[in-house]
Amino acid sequence: MKTGGTVTGVSGAVLADSSVARGQTSSREATGEFTLSAQAVIVTSGGIGGDHDLVRKAWPARLGTPPKRMVAGVPAHVDGRMLGITEAAGGQIINPDRMWHYTEGLQNWDPVWPNHGIRILPGPSSLWLDATGKRLPAPCYPGFDTLGTLKHLMATGHDYSWFVLTQKIIEKEFALSGSEQNPDLTNRSVRQVLQRVRPGAPAPVEAFKQKGADFVVAPTVEELVAGMNTLAGSSLLSAPAVKAVIESRDRQLTNPFAKDAQITAIRGARAYRGDKLIRVATPHRLLDPKAGPLIAVRLNILTRKTLGGLHTDLSARVLQSDGSPLPGVYAAGEAAGFGGGGMHGYNSLEGTFLGGCLFSGRVAGRAAAAAIA
Ligand SMILES: Cc1cc2nc3c(=O)[nH]c(=O)nc-3n(C[C@H](O)[C@H](O)[C@H](O)COP(=O)(O)OP(=O)(O)OC[C@H]3O[C@@H](n4cnc5c(N)ncnc54)[C@H](O)[C@@H]3O)c2cc1C
Repeated sequence: MKTGGTVTGVSGAVLADSSVARGQTSSREATGEFTLSAQAVIVTSGGIGGDHDLVRKAWPARLGTPPKRMVAGVPAHVDGRMLGITEAAGGQIINPDRMWHYTEGLQNWDPVWPNHGIRILPGPSSLWLDATGKRLPAPCYPGFDTLGTLKHLMATGHDYSWFVLTQKIIEKEFALSGSEQNPDLTNRSVRQVLQRVRPGAPAPVEAFKQKGADFVVAPTVEELVAGMNTLAGSSLLSAPAVKAVIESRDRQLTNPFAKDAQITAIRGARAYRGDKLIRVATPHRLLDPKAGPLIAVRLNILTRKTLGGLHTDLSARVLQSDGSPLPGVYAAGEAAGFGGGGMHGYNSLEGTFLGGCLFSGRVAGRAAAAAIA
């Protein structure tokens, strides 16, 4: 990319046409060269989660050792290429160590993009074990603290962990992220949504249980653990040790004043009628045969959000390292760390990312239009 709004390998909105540069197609498979010129370029190419080498390179020490193996929670085009191009043109990238990855990633048995990972949006009841079979400490419970759990897991020296649950839990508590995994919501069908209240796992969840590479289903702990070790290609788990962890958790269920914070959280969640109906299974012993079979799910680290990005001012202009605007170049959305180069800080509030995309996009569009008017 050259400054003054001229580009090489452009992504984003191009407003008007005045100056000239030589460019290449935006695809990795070049289909030829083209010349593109513009008075203003808005970079809106997203983050870096599709390029795991870039993610590992930016991985901060506070999150431990970078995972060797990850699944991709974003399409392949989220490869950070335009960030590099904009940086080469003089734009400054700030806060590259800010990132948001999930710890409950599944390998998609029906992938839409390479190494496609699907995140489980879990209810609170699954027992969470690290790769060696130790229960995760409070408050690392399903759905509680994404980055805190990521930090804990990476300190174990292993880049995966396990949910241990029952058929009864999977039926109510596994939701899957991604529009194709939620046909009832994407079809806006009230009738289909109401089926979530009925017994049985939703069809996309059942398909993962049957076809997913990360699932083990077994009637006994011994068979379950044997399957988990086979799946992980290791002998890190011992059946008696895993059974002891499960029994210790199960014992707390009979105590109405349980000191187990996860059991307390499950009971608290069920105080809300909506969750009781479709989101949180009736508390039960994992070893209750009536709740079975037992299920173990290997959870992979799933890349998702890039919280740092191109440094921008309040008009979404991309800034250079000396603080001056890079002429004609704007950035918005995840490429700009959702605005400013990292407006979420080191953490974030789950589900608030699109707001920053829309807001920074509006600011960038208005500023660019005003500049060329
Ligand atoms: C499965 C999933 C679920 C999510 N759920 C939520 C949620 O519930 N709430 C929430 O707030 N956020 C959620 N997010 C995050 C949110 O969707 C993203 O942060 C947001 O879409 C980023 O928008 P963007 O326009 O900045 O970038 P993107 O949506 O990544 O769009 C970038 C565009 O640029 C194009 N592009 C990239 N590189 C080039 C290039 N070199 N040349 C040409 N074009 C290029 C791409 O094709 C793409 O069209 C979710 C993300 C995923 C993947």
